Amino acid sequence: MRLFVLAALVSTIALAQETPTEREAAREVLKKMGDLERSLDVPGWVTRLSAANPARDQVTTRAKQLMDTELLAMSDDITKHPEVGFVEKRSVQLLVDYLKRHSFEVTVGVASLPMAFVARYKGNNGAPNLGVIVEYDALRGTQRAFHGDQHSAQGPVGLAAAIAMAEYLERAHAPGSLVVFGTPGEEMMPPVAKTDMFKAGIFNGMDVMVRSHAVSSTSRPAPGFGTCCLNIDGVKYTFSGAPSHQMTPWNGRNALEAVIHLFNNIDSVRSSMRPEARVQGVITEGGAAPNVVPDRTAADFYIRYPDAVYLAQVREFVDNAARAAALSTGTKVKIDNYGNLRDGISVATLGEVGFAHMKHFGATHIADAPGKPQGYEETGSVSSVIPGLGFAAYTSSAPNHTYEMEEDALTEVGHQGFVVDAEAMAALLFDFATHADYRAAVKREFEGIQALFGEYQEALKKVYTAPRVPDPQ
Ligand SMILES: [Zn+2]
Repeated sequence: MRLFVLAALVSTIALAQETPTEREAAREVLKKMGDLERSLDVPGWVTRLSAANPARDQVTTRAKQLMDTELLAMSDDITKHPEVGFVEKRSVQLLVDYLKRHSFEVTVGVASLPMAFVARYKGNNGAPNLGVIVEYDALRGTQRAFHGDQHSAQGPVGLAAAIAMAEYLERAHAPGSLVVFGTPGEEMMPPVAKTDMFKAGIFNGMDVMVRSHAVSSTSRPAPGFGTCCLNIDGVKYTFSGAPSHQMTPWNGRNALEAVIHLFNNIDSVRSSMRPEARVQGVITEGGAAPNVVPDRTAADFYIRYPDAVYLAQVREFVDNAARAAALSTGTKVKIDNYGNLRDGISVATLGEVGFAHMKHFGATHIADAPGKPQGYEETGSVSSVIPGLGFAAYTSSAPNHTYEMEEDALTEVGHQGFVVDAEAMAALLFDFATHADYRAAVKREFEGIQALFGEYQEALKKVYTAPRVPDPQ
């Protein structure tokens, strides 16, 4: 069993490398990562931390009790009152009131984000600092806002685990502190909430971070660096022209033509981009009336590539497509790179132990092999700097971002998974807080992977050369 787990771990490390070029560049790095993983004896940690522990049982029982008596109801309530990013007023109020009732000191509005909050348990002291991230934004839909990603349950799950663990530390006079971070607007940018919070120092001093998220099979990431959905640059291109009558358009400059050219120019260089690039946008402003030459238009793009190094080249193609569009139409363009999502780091010492806990607490629809490496949050700004784990117990048969997944949040399917997430999260926080040697192993793995990530970026820079284009003779 041990050997099997280790073999599965080491063989899935490569999953984050999605292109042949990346795999080639990563070869040495992955060899070293394999050595690092073997040296950590992750299966040994799983065995040791899966052993019976009556003190931990008290903590997980408390988390389950909070879910069963109050927090599943709160999850239903938030699901039925979806609020999109950065205006999650009602949801935040529910979570904050509950934290205050359970001895947390709460600051609402941090890092210039009115819907972000930090809640510290009053009765705790010192390190290790245990952080719980909760999100609460709904998806923007054409019919209505909806919780098709079940962020509605994240708050209640995180609160159950945080309260149960904080109470334990106080009761046992054990060192350690619980902090809950309310992070708004995960599904939209700008602003990139977690990055802004990170830059403002909100997460400073945390030793470990956890979060839960809806999935259609119980899973954990392989160790390494990566992201769920490629590295992303969010960029808005705004064109300004000059208005005039439709009958005398030569008196104006047409910004709609410019934005149409932008899309056509991008298509003209797609064959010069590596095929894994994902460049799609929408026109968010296209003019106001057919009889007035549009003097202002805008397009919003998510530009994606598996790694950030080649992404910079893709980005240059798209920026130049916009500049060319403006030049050829006599308009002007403003380029606003309003947000970037990057690789995070996942560690097996947390992932495998958390996965064992989820199975122990009755998670269903188990994915046996680890998934691709990815951070516990999507921006990478926190998950590439502080170790942590995203809990992903099965909570729906439907894919993410669907109305069906929202429906499941209100039924036994969702409820059962949310309780598993809360119990497993509480258990892992307990393990981390009460075993100094385990904390050291997590730190060693995290820092080892972090160093290798730097090495990997350097290797990629060497392979992504651009051709020399001579001046025409
Ligand atoms: Zn989500």
